[in-house]
Amino acid sequence: MKSTSLELVPQIILRMVASGVATSRANISRQTGMARSTIGHHVDQMIGRGLLSEETAREGQRGRPSLGLRLGRSAGFTIALDFERSFTHLALSDATAALLDTEEVRVSLSSSPTDVLDLVLASAKELLERNGLLNEDVHQVVASIPAPVDFVNGVTAHRYIMPGWEGFELRRSLSAYFDAPALVDNNANMMALGAFTEGGPAQLPLLHLHLSMGIGAGLITADGKIHRGADGSAGDIGHLKAGGNRDLVCICGKTGCVGASASLRAVITQLRIHDEDSDEINDEHRLRGLIKSGDPAATAAVRDAATRLGELTAELVDIFNPRTIILGGEMVRLTDEVLAGIRSVVYREALPIATRNLSISMEPMGKQLALLGAAKVGALALLS
Ligand SMILES: [Zn+2]
Repeated sequence: MKSTSLELVPQIILRMVASGVATSRANISRQTGMARSTIGHHVDQMIGRGLLSEETAREGQRGRPSLGLRLGRSAGFTIALDFERSFTHLALSDATAALLDTEEVRVSLSSSPTDVLDLVLASAKELLERNGLLNEDVHQVVASIPAPVDFVNGVTAHRYIMPGWEGFELRRSLSAYFDAPALVDNNANMMALGAFTEGGPAQLPLLHLHLSMGIGAGLITADGKIHRGADGSAGDIGHLKAGGNRDLVCICGKTGCVGASASLRAVITQLRIHDEDSDEINDEHRLRGLIKSGDPAATAAVRDAATRLGELTAELVDIFNPRTIILGGEMVRLTDEVLAGIRSVVYREALPIATRNLSISMEPMGKQLALLGAAKVGALALLS
């Protein structure tokens, strides 16, 4: 197993360079208050170990050339993986948490875990080769999956959402392939962290709701940490009763769960869109077509789901008092009425003190929030 265990001063230097806070010896010395000779000694050693590299950089047009520090190859790289229902997105990242290069594989999670991993790992190999890197340069792997995760053991835990994956030791498989530590987390947590990384600390506490075939939430606390709860299952909000319908049976076998009445899957079921020739992607496409053509039944069903999601969100606002709520997933992208419906119920139903400075918005388009979150987790691990 590879490791970049660092003593305290090199770790501080690496963090400063990775975050862009300081990128020269003089700057590091000024900001840490440590003697230039001390910093110089450590930087020389770190360059020797390949953790840093030093290149001539010009400060402004007329400034005299100075030496700028950058991360070296030995500081390590992260492979970030975002397993979605029909695609897996991959990213190469480093201790800066930036997405250096990305790749995607079209593969359904209804395939067996070994079939999915074969394709994804082949794609990871291409990603590394394209960037002149080897497996040994990967010091951390972080995977995001659209299902509850046993975070401690890295085991996927839900047979309804990812059939055939229940109990599959994804973390162990990834760790063995790359010979590096691996982490597996729920996509709602990774998207919440990605949203925080994009928008900064002024948004905290931040609640990210993923409204898709299922309903999930990720909470980033006021001090910038993912709230996973005691067993890693926090945020599995699709089975809360707020916004639910007591007459409907949920995939968990209980009645009244909000996921059974207000998820995309629930709307598709209610409108009887699904047939034997169709898969989830087709179903969603058909629903989108009905909404676009102004079909009254589809419009009413989505509006009702938005109201129910608003009731759920209002309760979450009262419990967590977030500063920011970001809504993502196919459900919010169906029509503007979903965001409008959720907002109106929240501002009407939640405690006024909790909505006074509350912002509710859609996640930015074109941002791969789960990958950004996974890259951030990877960067923190590389710098620890
Ligand atoms: Zn349920």
